[in-house]
Amino acid sequence: MFAMDKPSRDRFIWPVFLVEGEGRKEEIPSMPGQFRWSVDRLVAEFPQGVKNVLLFGQTEGEKDEIGSAAADMGGVVQRAIPALKRAFPDLVVFTDVCLCAYTCHGHCGPHDPEGDIDNDAACEMLARVAVSHARAGADGVAPSAMMDGQIAAIRAALDEEGVTKTLLISYSTKFASTMYGPFRDAENSAPSKGDRQGYQASYRDPDTALRESVVDEEEGADALMVKPALWYLDLISKVRSRTLLPVMAYNVSGEYSMIQAAAKAGYCDLYPAARESLYAIFRAGATQVISYWTPFYDEIFKD
Ligand SMILES: [Zn+2]
Repeated sequence: MFAMDKPSRDRFIWPVFLVEGEGRKEEIPSMPGQFRWSVDRLVAEFPQGVKNVLLFGQTEGEKDEIGSAAADMGGVVQRAIPALKRAFPDLVVFTDVCLCAYTCHGHCGPHDPEGDIDNDAACEMLARVAVSHARAGADGVAPSAMMDGQIAAIRAALDEEGVTKTLLISYSTKFASTMYGPFRDAENSAPSKGDRQGYQASYRDPDTALRESVVDEEEGADALMVKPALWYLDLISKVRSRTLLPVMAYNVSGEYSMIQAAAKAGYCDLYPAARESLYAIFRAGATQVISYWTPFYDEIFKD
């Protein structure tokens, strides 16, 4: 009997939603057990046993066309990194790098005069955000905007800044998906008009999505990612077989909330169902999983 070992804790990365202010811990209605945290409250109640986090910021202040607030050294992400590092020196802190929670229109980049997303202006802004996170001490930055050339632009900006230790994690194979709904609820980041299909891959076109991973590796990514995970296990496996880089899989909000809802309705048992889905992701070849289940590791893998 050659059963897989239980996946170790360091293969789990917990996505965390940050909010401004103090003393805040607000449950996200569509994601039971997940909260929006102010920095102080997150540090005070940080779940034991979590080894890695992926931080998502937002602003309640001024939002503009280019999302300037995303690069503010006083922003929630830039403040959370050193606060977490001080409290938990061994914690690995990754950050999401995007603009959609900071732009007035909710898109991942500014518009050009024709009203289309201005790819190059977006890359320039994303590079500024990544550098601000690196300066704050992030172990890795993960640009999620899906702009062409964003990896190369950020790599160049980090090099120019003299940053060599910050990993560059690419959301390299990211599909337009129905599974992001609860996340947008958490981040208040649904576009006010239009959608993001223009810069996310179609699930009917897996080859294009795979090519994005190859391109991002060439542009200097240190790790690749497939998002979502569960309906894209074939793609995790294919990316895995084409690279020697770590392959992360993002077990997205909808995948988490579906199991939560089914368990609540009595259609399955919560933790066994979560465990089965997580084994599937590792079996497909993921090196690490970015998952909302991370703080529930003990309950999920208790035997
Ligand atoms: Zn975005």
